Amino acid sequence: MLVTNFANVTYLTGFTGDDSFLLVTRDKDILLSDPRYTEQLEEECPGLELAIRNSGIKMGDFLGKVIRQAHVSRLAIEALSMTVSMWNFLETIVSRVELVPVEGLVEQLREIKDRDEINAIRDAIECAQRAFAVIRASLRNGRSENEIAHEIEHQIRWFGGSGCSFSPIVAIGPRAALPHAVPGEQQIGESDFLLIDWGARNRLYVSDLTRILVTGRISPKLERIYGVVSKAQEAAIELVRPGAMMHDVDAAARNVIAAAGYGKRFGHSLGHGIGLEIHEGPRLAQNEFRPLKAGMVVTIEPGIYLPGWGGVRIEDDLLVTRNGCEVLTTVPKELADCVID
Ligand code: ZN
Ligand code: ZN
Repeated sequence: MLVTNFANVTYLTGFTGDDSFLLVTRDKDILLSDPRYTEQLEEECPGLELAIRNSGIKMGDFLGKVIRQAHVSRLAIEALSMTVSMWNFLETIVSRVELVPVEGLVEQLREIKDRDEINAIRDAIECAQRAFAVIRASLRNGRSENEIAHEIEHQIRWFGGSGCSFSPIVAIGPRAALPHAVPGEQQIGESDFLLIDWGARNRLYVSDLTRILVTGRISPKLERIYGVVSKAQEAAIELVRPGAMMHDVDAAARNVIAAAGYGKRFGHSLGHGIGLEIHEGPRLAQNEFRPLKAGMVVTIEPGIYLPGWGGVRIEDDLLVTRNGCEVLTTVPKELADCVID
């Protein structure tokens, strides 16, 4: 198998650079990389057989050579990351090797986290939560979404993270109606509440949370919408255990929101796996007919988005345990806890 997805290469070898592929054969693994990485490779994956491509040799030619030397007759190709041009090139340069497109082989392994991975995720959560506590305490009228987003990144690094796990979403008032709002110049004080969706990266693994913060008064509408989203999240969390079907967990939250009359205002799936990447398997979605398994770490993040008014999403990270689940994220989320005085 030729592993071309960089996150999969990292997962299988521990190597954190990019532009490198892993060839897995029956008797050995070979990491194809270039001289920029030789020293890093020795540090991160000592003992792994390397094939280093010198400048002046094209990646395609180099790949062809290594594949021919490995004497394989069939080669699995990661269809989700192989480019059309690389595929065409391989077909001509190793014409005697049968190329077999496959999907999700390594991704499936990545869905189940081992103890080290879970600990790394716990640390990424801790880091994100400490940063959030500082942000919360520093919110003042006049602070803009951009400033808050910048401060989140700063605090995450201050608390030992290697950065944000994705560009933080800081959305004040009506901007929160956009599930993936880009921070802008809106300021605290221009609306009664804001939504923050953020996470940290720590030792390669990530966290992902969303909270609402109330900087003005709790309007009856906010109270109602928040209550529905909160109930939807509880209903879903209640179901999370090994064997629970992913689409059923999604439906548990979706039904609560639909019953309240906001079914069309929850346009995304309920959650996703987190790990080396911020969005990875499994997907908790209406069309995902698979059971949850112990060791999966997923987000549960129902939301209601009302154009012109704003949106409410509550997002936590859960570990599927042998008997049920553990909610790993602990930032308080009763609406009264979200009020900043
Ligand atoms: Zn998120
Ligand atoms: Zn998420």
